Amino acid sequence: MKIDRRSFLSLAAGVAAGTALTPLPLKLTDDLSIWTQTFRYMPNEVPVPPDGAVSVATSVCSLCPGGCGISVRKIDNRAVKIEGRQGYPVNNGGICTLGLAGLQLLYGPWRVQEPLKKKEGGFEKISWDQALSEISGRLNDLRRNGKSPSVAAITGAGQNTTGRLLQRFLTVFGSPHFIRIPAVDDSLAFAAGRMLGTAGVPAFDFENSSYVLSFGSGLLDGWGSPVRMFQAHSRWKENGATLVQVEARLSNTAAKADVWVPVKPGTEATLALGLAHVIVRDGLHDPAIEAAGKAFDAFRELLKSRYAPGAVARQTGVEEPKIEKLARDFARSPRPVAVCGKGAGQDPVESLEAMAVLALNALAGGFNRSGGVRINAAPDYIHWPEPEGSAAQKSNGTRLDVHRLPELINGGAQPPVQALFVMEANPLFTLHGAPALAGAVDKIPLVVSLSSYMDETAAAADYVLPVHAYLERYEDVLITAGLKEPLVGLSRPVVKPKFGSRHAGDVLIDLARAMGDDVAAAFPWENFEDCLKQTMADKWDVLSDQGYLAETGPEIPAGGMNFAALVESAELQPPGQGENGAWPLTLIPYDSMRLWGGHIGTPPFVLKTVADTVLKQADVFVEVNPVTAERYHLADGRPAFLETPAGKARVRVHVTDGIAPDVIAMPRGLGHAAYDDYLAEKGVNINALIGPVEDPVSGLDVAWGVKAKLTTA
Ligand code: SF4
Repeated sequence: MKIDRRSFLSLAAGVAAGTALTPLPLKLTDDLSIWTQTFRYMPNEVPVPPDGAVSVATSVCSLCPGGCGISVRKIDNRAVKIEGRQGYPVNNGGICTLGLAGLQLLYGPWRVQEPLKKKEGGFEKISWDQALSEISGRLNDLRRNGKSPSVAAITGAGQNTTGRLLQRFLTVFGSPHFIRIPAVDDSLAFAAGRMLGTAGVPAFDFENSSYVLSFGSGLLDGWGSPVRMFQAHSRWKENGATLVQVEARLSNTAAKADVWVPVKPGTEATLALGLAHVIVRDGLHDPAIEAAGKAFDAFRELLKSRYAPGAVARQTGVEEPKIEKLARDFARSPRPVAVCGKGAGQDPVESLEAMAVLALNALAGGFNRSGGVRINAAPDYIHWPEPEGSAAQKSNGTRLDVHRLPELINGGAQPPVQALFVMEANPLFTLHGAPALAGAVDKIPLVVSLSSYMDETAAAADYVLPVHAYLERYEDVLITAGLKEPLVGLSRPVVKPKFGSRHAGDVLIDLARAMGDDVAAAFPWENFEDCLKQTMADKWDVLSDQGYLAETGPEIPAGGMNFAALVESAELQPPGQGENGAWPLTLIPYDSMRLWGGHIGTPPFVLKTVADTVLKQADVFVEVNPVTAERYHLADGRPAFLETPAGKARVRVHVTDGIAPDVIAMPRGLGHAAYDDYLAEKGVNINALIGPVEDPVSGLDVAWGVKAKLTTA
């Protein structure tokens, strides 16, 4: 059996996830593991110490929202191997390639090792005392001058203790501009809030489903909790469940699905409602849903007037008989589930799409039953006393409109942003319209990055405050990513910090202390560890012993589904982009388990597994259907110019049947300007070619496909 580089990772990923094993892929995964251990990360460093005390520590991986349990093998204080933790509820021993290569993120040369201050276009090393004193001084100046609302903070840390400390800092300081980078969970929670009147995130019992209908979710490309999804895929194969993948590109998920349904990008909601039309028309829906009364009648009327299969076929490109069959197969399957959230699920989706997917699940009677959907209340364990003294300055706003940051910085906020904190996020790389944001950030007098790595945002900051890497710190990890039952995992320091970094929570506590007065009083903890233990209170012992807490809330009934919210959203749906001769193609991004498009860059060994039809030396490939290639005279392997309304880039063409005609696709996670020689200046950052698209209902940025053209270079 010949194994090329592309096959290698498919096999390795399967093995890592605990799917069907053969000796050969096991050997290959072993190789990856051995390379990771023997890589010489720093000059003069011994990768695996020749002797020393061997021990194993358990923790939780926080490199992606998956939250897998891990076991880290150590020799003295040197971590030498990371494995999936057996018995952990999320991944039960499985691990992905990023998790496996985590040692490179711990010991890699792109770690920021001490506080840095911008000087003459470069950085100078400074002490923690100097950094905190200068930053707190400038913040106090802003406060004294009544400019508290001119401070903004952006984080990808979510709603865990560290994220909430940053939010508290902003609140006490008197600014509403706490910005959390949203994901598909926010769209699903928004849709559930509108349709069910409840605060919670829909979660999917994939493992027990008999029919999984995925609207573009890269279930086997990093969606949600990736290792869990690989293991669910094994269950589907064992149980004879059907996986249907609706997306324009033959992703890994589509390739492994039982049915691949290529659809025009941006018409997923239309297709979902077309299926709903057939289900309701043929009386295949759960009769209990009719209890919604007039709202259900209005929904039925909407489906009848706008989403008949003929009309849906014309808009989506999916043939009418296929729409009829998909709808019937879904409704007649004993435990079907529908899901949305494109790629790895790290982007919000249109409200109408999220609502249509919830409606499909409701029509199938799928709420609160095995193999269906459950609404999980967010874990609720952070109960800090209200800060005193500064009540007049407090602001509780949690803004999610991160795509409006350039507007906010350029004067949309009064006063305009004068200071920006960025923590556990790399918006200058990950956000749509990244160049516009970079230009806006450049105008902010004080930018502070709390980061373990010299990423694009850190490189643009005035101060870089190095924070502990994920294996050096305590962190409560909220694992909501579509999980059937929400968990709080405990990431803990398995090795002593290697450099002069601090915990991000300690930095915030120290900064508050340096500011004095009521800001300091709102952060009474000795340090972050003390804060976390007090926050967890009587749950700390279980969390610490077990490594996780199952935070199952009460079952939220889905009986009173408000279809009126969906009908209203359909009325607000903007008209399709239509034909546009200047931009005849649609460019979509794609995620994969080989490239990480989030705030952490792809480690060197994982990058090595990327196929040479995706990245060759420094050139990224754009996938083009043979019909499209012929129409625009594009040849396989040749250079081309890719242009969108947001920008232009030089790429190479990969002609493949795995993409629908008139759609072109490019990977996320490339085009870094920062990080190391392995990653920097390789390929193109697709986020620079995509402008934000605001959902008219939720206000979230839901851009995915963008109009484009491709010409020979
Ligand atoms: S799936 Fe995510 S959490 Fe799990 S090992 Fe991989 S990177 Fe870590």
